[in-house]
Amino acid sequence: MKLLQPNLWVDNLHEIPLQQLQTIGIRGLMIDIDNTLVAWDKSEPATEVRQWVADARALGFQVVLVSNNHSLRVDEMQAFFMVHGFSKAKKPTLGTLKKAIRLMGFQRQQVAMIGDQIFTDVLGGNRLGVYTILVTPIKSKEFWWTTLVRPLEARVLHRMKKFRNSG
Ligand SMILES: [Mg+2]
Repeated sequence: MKLLQPNLWVDNLHEIPLQQLQTIGIRGLMIDIDNTLVAWDKSEPATEVRQWVADARALGFQVVLVSNNHSLRVDEMQAFFMVHGFSKAKKPTLGTLKKAIRLMGFQRQQVAMIGDQIFTDVLGGNRLGVYTILVTPIKSKEFWWTTLVRPLEARVLHRMKKFRNSG
């Protein structure tokens, strides 16, 4: 049970006390991608999220993306965030997480794992012995909205077209 408990649980990335993390010696951040940095069905991270990553790096943190998703997805996010990313990480197994730490050149005690899932991100991080931060998943509000709105949108467009043709 203890392995599923994060050291810190926040509603969003901006609630992570980066400076406090530095005071306890954290210097590297391993960050999950889907629903942590970007909604699973979105191809672009929000501006505030990109800014948050940039701010963390400006503070001196090293950032590495660690995702269970495929490499195409991770490649895209590497480009957006300008940091290295590991795909098919198979969290909560430790292989890729260890690689990520080695890449940053830190000890485990100097690293935090940030993610939205208890059974992958938190469990993996805790098994490895890094500081773990659970973030409430980014929900894709637009998905439901667009689903509801699409038929209406189509009808409106159809009417506009007819109107334009008759006028
Ligand atoms: Mg996730």
